Amino acid sequence: MALIVQKYGGTSVGDPDRIRNVAARVVETLDAGNRVAVVVSAMSGETNDLVALAREIGGEEPDPREYDVLVSTGEQKTIALLAMAIHGLGRRARSFTGAQMGMRTDTAHTRARIASIDAKRILSVLDSGAVAVIAGFQGVDDEGNITTLGRGGSDTSAVAVAAALGADHCEIFTDVDGVFTTDPRIVPEACKIDRITYEEMIEMASLGAKVLQIRSVRFAARHHIPIHVRSSFNRNEGTWVLPEDEIMEGLFVSGVTYNRDEAKIRVRGVRDVPGAAARIFGPLSNAGIVVDMIIQNLSQDGTTDVTFTVKKDDYRRALNITKEVGGEIGAEEVGGNETIAKVSIVGLGMKDHAGVASRMFQVLADEGINIQLIATSEIKVSVVIDVAETDRAVKALHAAFIEAGAAEPVRES
Ligand code: ADP
Ligand code: ASP
Ligand code: MG
Repeated sequence: MALIVQKYGGTSVGDPDRIRNVAARVVETLDAGNRVAVVVSAMSGETNDLVALAREIGGEEPDPREYDVLVSTGEQKTIALLAMAIHGLGRRARSFTGAQMGMRTDTAHTRARIASIDAKRILSVLDSGAVAVIAGFQGVDDEGNITTLGRGGSDTSAVAVAAALGADHCEIFTDVDGVFTTDPRIVPEACKIDRITYEEMIEMASLGAKVLQIRSVRFAARHHIPIHVRSSFNRNEGTWVLPEDEIMEGLFVSGVTYNRDEAKIRVRGVRDVPGAAARIFGPLSNAGIVVDMIIQNLSQDGTTDVTFTVKKDDYRRALNITKEVGGEIGAEEVGGNETIAKVSIVGLGMKDHAGVASRMFQVLADEGINIQLIATSEIKVSVVIDVAETDRAVKALHAAFIEAGAAEPVRES
């Protein structure tokens, strides 16, 4: 008898009919002889509405503890409704909030990290033949305060529950058939990937493919939990996210991603002396601001420019801090803009292929798209461009690297 954790995202539980559809799928899995724990998100749009309400009353940065109390209510609604729908099919089900199921986190409100899960209560429910319906996205700290795991956090809840229960695998049900070579909403030619390694999926998620929260994939890799991403609207086989040794051949470039959630800050005319970068980035790091790409130009006349990107949510704060530091170190000017996008190509096959980056730059040049910043790692190349050109860049790169048959296997063995 297998133990399966299923997670249903917002669209999959978006209205009463869809909740009844989920209940039917859960019962089907139960009838196939499995034990089933279900993790659910808030109904689609609900979390956004709650965040908007929090900002309306609490301002741009609402009190984090109360924000978590508020936004966690979305999932609480769904667990009760899904449990009722399963009862409606004549089966037993019990709902659990994060606190009730023993999902302990640290105290970092709005972006808490999971510390431990007490699986006993859930296991006893499953062993009795009932379904456990668990609220995703939420936990509780050591003092009983409600915490949330950051947007998209139900994916991470699901994988963590799967790890704690020793599940055979974790199914992530969403509104697309799996992980695609790029966002199917932008490129209709995008194709479903049958199998992808944890490593590539971590890169794709961190570079903007929102189909899985990055932390869920890291968690799965660490605990060896296979993830099956699939649609809740059909029975198609989806995408398996697995260790590299279970995937025989990789694509040269597996995916194209984009991220419009970053902003750029430029410090012009910094004296090119030891310690300048530390003076700029120290205060940002002390303020908990994560800096992504960093470019320092070659110095001319003893001064240089430093440009970097941060999350849009941190942009105002980061700009103010950098302006202050810029004044202290005598920089000529500090400015920035929020109208950028980061577009990336990702693929394990790039490890052994030279010339991928230059080909990417040529594709963008042919489109007349200007590159502002570049970053590379073993399995990705990212560029920052004007946000208005995102769709065009993604389409052109997808056409050049994926549709044009660059998909030949490149493994040596
Ligand atoms: P859920 O509410 O089920 O968690 P999300 O909206 O968080 O769903 O994630 C699914 C969405 O991710 C899809 O509708 C799709 O538009 C988007 N997406 C972005 N990049 C990709 C990709 N490479 N593959 C699949 N979906 C992607
Ligand atoms: N409801 C939360 C969100 O919208 C968590 C999730 O859906 O994963 O971000
Ligand atoms: Mg999601």
